[in-house]
Amino acid sequence: MDKKQGLELLREPFLPNQISKLPKGTKAQNECPANEKVKCNICGGFHHPKVIHLDYVGHAALTDRLLDCDPLWNWEPFALEEGLPKFDAQGGLWVKLTVCGHSRPGYGNAEKSQWKTVGDREKEVIGDALRNAAMRFGAALDLWHKGDLHIDEDGKTTPAATSEEISPKTEAVPDKPEEKESCITEKQAKRLFAISMGAGWSNNELKAYLSQKYGVEKSNQVKTSDYETICKYIEDNKRI
Ligand SMILES: [Zn+2]
Repeated sequence: MDKKQGLELLREPFLPNQISKLPKGTKAQNECPANEKVKCNICGGFHHPKVIHLDYVGHAALTDRLLDCDPLWNWEPFALEEGLPKFDAQGGLWVKLTVCGHSRPGYGNAEKSQWKTVGDREKEVIGDALRNAAMRFGAALDLWHKGDLHIDEDGKTTPAATSEEISPKTEAVPDKPEEKESCITEKQAKRLFAISMGAGWSNNELKAYLSQKYGVEKSNQVKTSDYETICKYIEDNKRI
């Protein structure tokens, strides 16, 4: 069996244990009073209970992969100011990522937050920029494709005005027709419950997952197009 190397290896999907959960709240959720926030058993953070989570590859997992592809990989900022990377007016950063002798650009940004300690935002920006640049080499493309990278106040996905506006999601993926999507049948809903029970998920856990990830409050509102993905996710994440 030939083991993939270099840039080809960079395109290999990441394993579930290398994928982290990023809570992505709406503005209202992020700014809700502290007593409405809960300890989250999905990401371990402390936030509004209805915040959805996005899959992403963390800095360590990405660095590990880059090193496997090319021990001499490197990144540089596009611009310097007094010898340091120059962040733009929005606090974002353009970087040039070099892997196996090829360079591609990437852009990162991160929210300001009173909870972040000094330097945390900047580190997050760098991680975001590297993810964005690595995506241009095909790293974790499947995660970018899932399409739920941005939510607005209504919980709908929207293209954003930061790094992801130039993601493959908006460039290369053909738009799904926005026609009213059909929901699963009663039989499928029963099967979903059976799978979830078999996987050791409690009813509450299933409810929370459907609500957070798909904005669905009842199992019969699950869209047919999401059904197989949901079943597979539960089967892949057995609690027992
Ligand atoms: Zn969370």
